[in-house]
Amino acid sequence: MTDAEPLRRGWIFDLDGTLTRPQHDFDAIRAELGIPNGEPILEYLAGLPVTEAAGLHQRLDAIELELAGAAEAQPDCAALLEHLATAGCMLGILTRNSRNNALRCLERIGVMHLFDPACILGREEAPPKPDPGGILTLLADWQLPPDAAVMVGDFRFDLEAGRAAGVRTVHFDPSGQFPWPALADHRVRSLADLIAAKPGARTRVRD
Ligand SMILES: [Mg+2]
Repeated sequence: MTDAEPLRRGWIFDLDGTLTRPQHDFDAIRAELGIPNGEPILEYLAGLPVTEAAGLHQRLDAIELELAGAAEAQPDCAALLEHLATAGCMLGILTRNSRNNALRCLERIGVMHLFDPACILGREEAPPKPDPGGILTLLADWQLPPDAAVMVGDFRFDLEAGRAAGVRTVHFDPSGQFPWPALADHRVRSLADLIAAKPGARTRVRD
């Protein structure tokens, strides 16, 4: 997104750590569930026997439900989403969290009204990122080509999913460290940086 590019029509956001302040301590969650350090949680559970996985999924849901109830928005989250919705953009969420928790989270931070609930995909509705399946589902629903859409996220899996789907990738990293430059088309330290996008005209996202 340089000054010479039009505003993308489809905006897909990661939830935890992107629209909300990061509150998941994944190492602590792994420890509580007995998952080895460094293992992706959902993929690890998928490899377990069904009954064992079911119990751990229940505990994971409970942990994440509690976190959703305490969610706080990132600065300028509502302002960005209102800006994009007013501009006629399509808004979606693709999260490795459950859809129920995502809905609860979005309600709590006061932006649920800006989303079509059908465009909120959790781990039951789509294969977990970095799989691009959820992005492709939203693009099909919106009847948009990949180059008309953006995936915004704070983690490698968000950017890898975006790459695999062929959409533009925006890495949101308030620390400014940006550890995966090869995966990010754009890098922003605040959601306000994305508000620079002008409806129907040009985007001015700092890079
Ligand atoms: Mg995240």
